[in-house]
Amino acid sequence: MDERVYNFSAGPAVLPVPVLEQIRDEMLCLPGAGASILEISHRGGPFTEIIQSAEANLRKLLDISDDYAVLFLQGGSRLQFSMIPINLLGEGQSADYILTGSWGKKALQEAQKEGKTRVAFTAKDSGFDHVPAEGDLDLDPNAAYCHYTCNETIEGVQFAGEPDTGDVPLICDASSDFLHRKLDVSRYGMIYACAQKNAGPSGVTVVIMRKDLAERSGDNLPSYLSYKNHVQEESLGNTPPTFGIYVVDLVAKWLLNEIGGLDKMFDRNKAKALKLYDVIDAHTDVYKGHAQPHSRSVMNVTFNLPSDELTSRFLSEAKKHKLDALKGHRSVGGIRASIYNAMPIEGVDALASFMTDFAKSC
Ligand code: PMP
Repeated sequence: MDERVYNFSAGPAVLPVPVLEQIRDEMLCLPGAGASILEISHRGGPFTEIIQSAEANLRKLLDISDDYAVLFLQGGSRLQFSMIPINLLGEGQSADYILTGSWGKKALQEAQKEGKTRVAFTAKDSGFDHVPAEGDLDLDPNAAYCHYTCNETIEGVQFAGEPDTGDVPLICDASSDFLHRKLDVSRYGMIYACAQKNAGPSGVTVVIMRKDLAERSGDNLPSYLSYKNHVQEESLGNTPPTFGIYVVDLVAKWLLNEIGGLDKMFDRNKAKALKLYDVIDAHTDVYKGHAQPHSRSVMNVTFNLPSDELTSRFLSEAKKHKLDALKGHRSVGGIRASIYNAMPIEGVDALASFMTDFAKSC
């Protein structure tokens, strides 16, 4: 336990210690199963209970109505980049994409392979440092859907609320801020998130989808690529990522029972992020935040130092203080502190105090 660092990895990322402890305690024998979660059938009673519990707990956390299906899929969010247009972009239709960073761009590139797309907004010219203000969106009222990335993990840019797309179904890549706050799910056609940031391990992707949208899936799609098929099969069309679903359930229980729900989680997340942004703003000679203040992410805090040499020194000294995985994404460099739900406030305090001392030493 003493060897555990404060892990600021962007994903796979820190998980709540009580969840890890429960996994450890149950690893040899899942209560009531007589075997490990890694060894039991996805069709048997114990796993059925787990997948039903994971779905029920996500529904409770986000108040998800019966109009929506909750799916547990594989292939990461990247597969969703393709499944969305393959299923939802009909012949002759076009889909809108709002681009506020690298992941939105990648989602668009995959969609372009499948059909017609439009860019409803891009912040490319300013290096993806902000989200659109109301009125910045150039929306197609006839679009098959409008896709956006609520938190851009690489740039550290986050929407505070959802864009208004009227009757056009809104599709959200929530991979890196899923479960960080309460959402009004009824405003979305679909929300998806790979689990490995806030919700569990890599290998499972949660899809929350309006059931009528899943009806759009063509009948001749490969069955794994069809949302309609996954809804009908209740995520059990093939062997689902059983271990990942088990961990998602434990994380959801932690949020409900130990944190007290998503409003409380959001309060904690805002308080944690503020501590780091306060240090950045107090030392602008050393730290330059990437995101414009109104678009700052409460999950991925991104900033640059004046030189590569100082960045390397920052990273190596941070490591000596057990502050790990702070290197920015290879495409943009700089520093990125990912402070997901499970990052304890003590970890953020330790980083804030290190940053203050480091700035003074420059
Ligand atoms: N979207 C966002 C916002 C992400 O942060 C990531 C992963 N970093 C992805 C998509 C891709 O997810 P995966 O690697 O699970 O396909």
